[in-house]
Amino acid sequence: MAYERALYFAVENEYEEIRRHNEADLEARRSAVYETVPEIREIDNEIHSAGLSIVNLAVQSPADMKQRLAALRDHQKALQIRRKTLLLENGFDADELSMRYMCELCKDTGVRDHKPCECYQRRLVMKAFEKSNLSQQLRNQSFKTFDYSLYSQEVDPQFGVSPYRAIQNIVAVCKQFITDFDRTDKNLLFWGESGLGKTFLSTCIAKELIKQGYSVIYETTYQIVSRLEDYKFKRGDDA
Ligand SMILES: [Zn+2]
Repeated sequence: MAYERALYFAVENEYEEIRRHNEADLEARRSAVYETVPEIREIDNEIHSAGLSIVNLAVQSPADMKQRLAALRDHQKALQIRRKTLLLENGFDADELSMRYMCELCKDTGVRDHKPCECYQRRLVMKAFEKSNLSQQLRNQSFKTFDYSLYSQEVDPQFGVSPYRAIQNIVAVCKQFITDFDRTDKNLLFWGESGLGKTFLSTCIAKELIKQGYSVIYETTYQIVSRLEDYKFKRGDDA
């Protein structure tokens, strides 16, 4: 099951934003380092020139290319060691001038081994959560956090079953509803006094379905009726 396209665009935008932030963050760290240790700026320029010389050599491929390449690489290595020493001596981290990523696995590209990275999937699910109007509840409400101890194990004479046993059956029905979701057009109606877990269970179901790629909208009855009214009457006025 795939999410709607808008969610993918939103996640792509998020990655662009993260990458912009990473670059700005590196640039700020670089400026601070150059200001404190001007020699590091010179070393960076030299490393860059050595890199260009290596490319030039490869293009021209002179007879002594191998030796000259090795010499340039040694020079680059020595510069990098000097750079690292200077950073540490001046109280910076060894990786102070490296890009820092939120996800080291995909380097904030969202792609790893030609597949969406785990962080991409997580962001997609989070976006779907936000879109459902349920993001706050979805953070801490799930079947795993459902607290059965809130339900009495004493048999209710009116129903011949304990609330504890009844809620276990209801949860089983909810889980079956999720399993059968794309194979049936049945609905679930929770009916009962407040505080019995109706909203909690709705959220658990929404969370599982969102994780599977379905779009979920959470609205109060009032909101749904208002939307229908808007759709039916406001559109009629415009026509
Ligand atoms: Zn990643």
